Order: sequence, then C-alpha cells, then structure tokens
Amino acid sequence: MTDPETAPTAASADRFSRQARFAPFGPKGQERTAGATVAVVGLGGLGSWIAEHLARAGVGTLRLIDRDLVEASNLPRQGLYGDADARGGRPKAEAAAERLAAIGGPTRLEPHVAELTRANVDRLLGGSQLVMDGLDHFAGRFLLNDWCRRERVPWVYGGAVGGTGAVLRIDANRGPCLRCLFPGAASATGGDTCDTVGVLSPLPALIAALQCSEALRLLAGDVRPGRLWQLEPWEGRALAIDAGPSAPDCATCRREAYPALDPAADDGDVRLCGRDTVQVAARGGADLDLAAVAARWTGLGELERGRFLVRIRQHGLTLSLFRDGRALIQGTSSPATARALYERLVGR
Ligand SMILES: [Zn+2]
Repeated sequence: MTDPETAPTAASADRFSRQARFAPFGPKGQERTAGATVAVVGLGGLGSWIAEHLARAGVGTLRLIDRDLVEASNLPRQGLYGDADARGGRPKAEAAAERLAAIGGPTRLEPHVAELTRANVDRLLGGSQLVMDGLDHFAGRFLLNDWCRRERVPWVYGGAVGGTGAVLRIDANRGPCLRCLFPGAASATGGDTCDTVGVLSPLPALIAALQCSEALRLLAGDVRPGRLWQLEPWEGRALAIDAGPSAPDCATCRREAYPALDPAADDGDVRLCGRDTVQVAARGGADLDLAAVAARWTGLGELERGRFLVRIRQHGLTLSLFRDGRALIQGTSSPATARALYERLVGR
C-alpha cells in the first residue's frame, strides 16, 4: 500500500523513529498511520489534544471539524489555543490547524468550521478510515455512531465531565455501539456538562491520550477488540473491561436502523452552546458569499472579516456568520433574542 506520497522519507523516518521502534506498532504501523485519513469531530477539551497527538504521530490527513470559537474559559483545558485566539474569537478549527502546522510534520490538515449534521456528514466524514469523538453532547455522538456503523468505519468514543472519563473504541462491524451502551441517551436532554459540573484539565487530556492509544492500535492493524475504560483519577479509580457483544435489542447493531440519520428527525435550528452563546442554523442550509454579506453590513456595527467568517458587534451582541449560514450569537442565552438578531441581519 506504499505509494510515492506516503512512502517514508529519511527525515520522516528519523522524526518517527521512537514510535516505529515500539515493536507492537513498528514501521508497518507507521506506514499505515501515514496513509490514513482521520476525522476529529469537536476540537475542545478532548479534540484539541486528540488532534495534537495524531498530528505528532504522523497521521496522513487530519480533518479538523469544529463549530465553535475559542473563548477564554477554554484555555485551562484545551490544547492548541492561546490568549490571542480567545481575544480574536477565532474558529477553533482555524486556530488548531495553524498551531498544528507550526508543530510541523507531514500531516495534511483540513480545517472545517462547521457543525456536523445529517446534511453534511457524508461530505465531512466520507473517505476517513477512522473517526475520533471530541464532542461534548450525545446528539452529535449518535450521529457519529449511526454514520460510522452504516459506513463500516470505526470510531473512538470519549467523554470527560466532572471527575469521570470514559473511552470505548467502537469497531466497524462488531461489538457494541454507543446505542448499546447508552440506550436512553439518544433522546435525553440535560445531564451533567462541563458548564454545569466543571472539569479539571488533566482529565480530558488523559481521556484524549487513551482515545489516541486506541486509535494508533487500530491504525497499526491490531485486531483485538477495544476495551471499555472508565477513569476517575481524582478518586484514584480505573476500570477496563471487555465491552462484550452488541446489546440484543440494539436497533443499529441488530436491525441496521440508523435513527440519527433519519431525515425526518428534527435537528432544531436554534440551540444553546455553552452559557452565553446561542447557535442559529440556516433553515435548509446555505452557501453564502461572506464578502457580499460584509458589504451589506457596512455601517450597521463593528465589522470583522476572517477566513471562515464575517462578524458584527451590535448592542452588546456579537454575531459570527459562517458560509453555511450558521451563526453563533454571543452575549445572550435567549434563543428568541438570537433568532431575532439572525433574522434581522441574515434573513430567514
Ligand atoms: Zn448497538
């Protein structure tokens, strides 16, 4: 499977010599890693560290997918970002790609400033050999779960909230999926989040590292099933068990049903992202000319134009608009206020 694009050069052989010397991984594992495309979905507390580990490990192509902007409250636990990114409200995918490019190495970086949805999941994840979960909400994880099972792509679930973290590698076509493990979570709302119960920096970094260990093992061709890990470092507890077979009543594993991909399901076009930010998505999607939008907004407020967005500040609210018609409105927790501003500035 070696082709001229992925054949190791002398420089890359030296760069990766320590991991290639680790016998279970070996030169073969390095070669396979260099030929792989991996999607990292969510670039927060988990995904930022995942992206860094996998770039440093020499993954061939990394798709960096995130919908959010860097905020100051991210900096204690999210790698790859700094004060300047938070002050500038930069998209995480853009800031992450820039930092990873500065680290160097042969990895091809593809930043995508987008929320993963049913409408774009084929385009954003298609062609990847592995998907890494850096998300912080179950709705997105079930979309990953169902897409990956349908397309026979393995993915690595990770979660870290409060004092507890968990990891499971979900194989392409055997063993339990996320729906087997958390049958009620697909429709659950609320629950603990890092906004409500907090989290300390070492936990997401630890969970991300474990997710990457599972990822590299898989990329190296180790066919042993993934284990279900549960870690509580503050309490000094760790557990790793065989995940066992699929649940006997799992719709996805047993009947090839993929509810999260069902076009009839309602996504909701307005939702709260964190404490003080509301996301509004374009109804039916969009493909905006951001330069034209910026021209239209001239004189309406303080304007800013980035590679992936156009932003306006008005009456204490900041609206960041992306090409797909999605906007993040900062400075409010009211969906109605956010929707009203969106309709006034962007339209319906
Ligand atoms: Zn299942």
